[in-house]
Amino acid sequence: MADKSSQVDILTSIDTPLGGDDIRKVGAGLDVKHIRDDVWYFTDGTVVFLVEDKLFRVHGAIFARDSELFQALLSLPQGDAQRDEIGGHSDDNPIVCAGDSIEEFRALCWALYARPSDILLQQDYNTVDVPKLIKIVAISHKYDFAAYQDWALGVLGAHCSAYPTSFFAKCGTWSNVCTIFRLASQCNQNALVQEMEQSWLRRTSNASKSEGLTAFGYALDVAETSDSFRQFHGKLYYTYLQTTVMFCVRFQEGVESTGILDTASHIDTSLSKFSEERRYRILSGFWSLSRLWRKLSQPPKLENSHPPCTGNHTRDCVPKWQAWWKDALDEAMGQGRCENDPGKLIQAMQTRVRAEPLQLACASLVEKQIGLMKERFDDTLADHFLIPKQSSDSKTTADSSSNSELPRLSLI
Ligand SMILES: [Zn+2]
Repeated sequence: MADKSSQVDILTSIDTPLGGDDIRKVGAGLDVKHIRDDVWYFTDGTVVFLVEDKLFRVHGAIFARDSELFQALLSLPQGDAQRDEIGGHSDDNPIVCAGDSIEEFRALCWALYARPSDILLQQDYNTVDVPKLIKIVAISHKYDFAAYQDWALGVLGAHCSAYPTSFFAKCGTWSNVCTIFRLASQCNQNALVQEMEQSWLRRTSNASKSEGLTAFGYALDVAETSDSFRQFHGKLYYTYLQTTVMFCVRFQEGVESTGILDTASHIDTSLSKFSEERRYRILSGFWSLSRLWRKLSQPPKLENSHPPCTGNHTRDCVPKWQAWWKDALDEAMGQGRCENDPGKLIQAMQTRVRAEPLQLACASLVEKQIGLMKERFDDTLADHFLIPKQSSDSKTTADSSSNSELPRLSLI
């Protein structure tokens, strides 16, 4: 986003594109023949933009109306030196929008010139063009069309909430899914982010199939880009481990039979499809969670504090608590519900304490703490996988090398 603090700053940023990804003047005497866009070239337009090889001639007032960036850019009077330098007066001297795609710019034009009937079609899940709305969010976010960005995000959020299982397919490609997920996070659209996280985890839980593995790979690509996705990042690995039936006491489940000698010398290579870093996280997480499960096999220590127990805590509460925990553990294991998955075991404890309240003088405090166990487990999940806490901009390009580890398949 350009700095909006002053007109001078905006123009400075335009003259010196941020990472070559902003508006800049290309100057006269273009060598390449550019083509007028079929739809968004109005002969009575007042400003000409060049996006890739397409010329867009549009009405400056429309662009300036809802974007402070374009307002500052286009409000300079004709004859002003800076205005002349920026260009945009003719096909030979367009304003170059570097970093934008033709489709993104067309989507922006569509939004700015849309008829009410066009807008209404986007409210209906059967007629909405989700890829177009994603492009509108992206380019509106870049050029400070806040109202259009918020509108498109709102429509996408409503559709995702109403149709969570098919929303990803509506996005068209994994690239679009990743783009809108990142943008929703950057724009603090927490409800949309959470809906998409749940959808992604559901798809990852099907990681025994190639589609699920692909979903897992793209989710990791996104999760690795920002510390704000750290908890989601941990949940992804945890969900993946659950799909591998490694958390399972019924060992024969999910295991293919091989010959006697082949079985004895079998070396598992199922993680070879992952990058070294991701393999390391999977192994670390499995080890750490297995150790946690072992730890849960013993009743946690029952403290007598905050507020102090009104009964005879040591004589009555502690042994009852230990017996309750052991019974709960035996029940969960006996029914095969939690296997050796610490998260499921904690969930089983929560369920049991609600169904059968503890008969202790300090029962309410203990129940409250059991209720918070799952929350604490979720909060620390990423730690098991040794996912570092990092700033969002400390992400290195080296990580992107792992992106090629999984197949790239379009959703449609
Ligand atoms: Zn007590």
